[in-house]
Amino acid sequence: MITKLSAFKHLLERSLQDKKFKYKVITYTITAVHIFLVGLFSYLRVYPLILFNIGSVITYMRCINIIKYGHGKELIKTFYITYVEIIIHSFITAICIGWRFGFAQYTIGLIPFGYYMCVTLIDDTKKKYLVPTLLGFAAFFSFVGCRMISMFTGALYPLNVSSAVELFIYIFNSICNFSFLFMVTLIFIMDMQTATNLLRRQNVMLDNMASIDPLTGLYNRRSMQDFFDAVIKAEENFCLIMCDIDNFKKVNDTYGHDFGDVVLKEISQIIQTQVSNHGNVCRWGGEEILIMTKVSLDYTCKIAENIRVEVEKHSFCLHDTAIHCSLTLGVAAHRPGNSVEETITHADKRLYYGKKNGKNRVVSPYDAQ
Ligand code: GH3
Ligand code: MG
Ligand code: MG
Repeated sequence: MITKLSAFKHLLERSLQDKKFKYKVITYTITAVHIFLVGLFSYLRVYPLILFNIGSVITYMRCINIIKYGHGKELIKTFYITYVEIIIHSFITAICIGWRFGFAQYTIGLIPFGYYMCVTLIDDTKKKYLVPTLLGFAAFFSFVGCRMISMFTGALYPLNVSSAVELFIYIFNSICNFSFLFMVTLIFIMDMQTATNLLRRQNVMLDNMASIDPLTGLYNRRSMQDFFDAVIKAEENFCLIMCDIDNFKKVNDTYGHDFGDVVLKEISQIIQTQVSNHGNVCRWGGEEILIMTKVSLDYTCKIAENIRVEVEKHSFCLHDTAIHCSLTLGVAAHRPGNSVEETITHADKRLYYGKKNGKNRVVSPYDAQ
């Protein structure tokens, strides 16, 4: 049941993303109402209204065709036709049978319909608000005008129907008009929702592009700076691990830059897995990776050693070649009162010390240097 419901919701969302589908739904609905009115006025024997509604049905069929095959300006033509038709229909019913059956109500539904159609179909920013506002005034004056005409001229075809039939016609018109208002509002809200979701997704993508290094998938230096700002502001303690791939130039020179990229990517993944949610990993520059942890120095040293062991064990493969690489890592603990730059320098110095003393090792504050 739930899967059926979500499939229906998905189908509805996809259909509503199709502009033409929405215009077709609106036009089909209006056509259906006019077909019913042909029947109703035939029953009531009001010939001008029968003819007018037959003409309306034919016009809307033509509009559906235009919606199916037309674009831009042709689509806006169908909107103007609908608007004018509904206004004329209100006047003609007021003149023929009077006000009391509620046919003028349809002019109210024109206002949200006008804004929706103009905002979605007109490109010019000024016009897309000016046109529906002016049309909205036209709808208002038509509504009031119908009332005045029916007051001053009386009905051309006074209907001798029971109050039950009169009420039925009034309620039918109210149901149609309110359903139309609901439909246009729902379509509008769903459009807004779709646009908001799209914007949210694009924002996340832009955020990622601004903070993630595209090759390794690690945070970039700018993001690390933000993390530093946050921990300094919160006066939190943290530790740093500066990593550098050993003899990486040789890897590039021997196996090519592409192989170097594979090594860099896979080492980044190993580091990310080992650090997990204990800290943030960033590509500090070239093949240097900086890790900030929010765990104790002991635990940070353990993470650093695990990274070293995992990288040492790993086989880096491209095409038919497989090689082994190693990392040297320098660990430092941030002391309150020190600057981040000082802590980075400590980690860097230990890394340098490791490089000078055989590489493939972790140098921590516990090691005699
Ligand atoms: P050491 O063991 O002392 O670190 O020696 P090394 O050869 O690794 O020397 P160094 O750290 O100075 O090497 C930096 C090399 O990293 C130089 C550059 O070609 C390479 N490199 C930097 N960024 C990239 C990258 O994005 N892809 C590839 N393939 N190589 C890179
Ligand atoms: Mg380097
Ligand atoms: Mg290196």
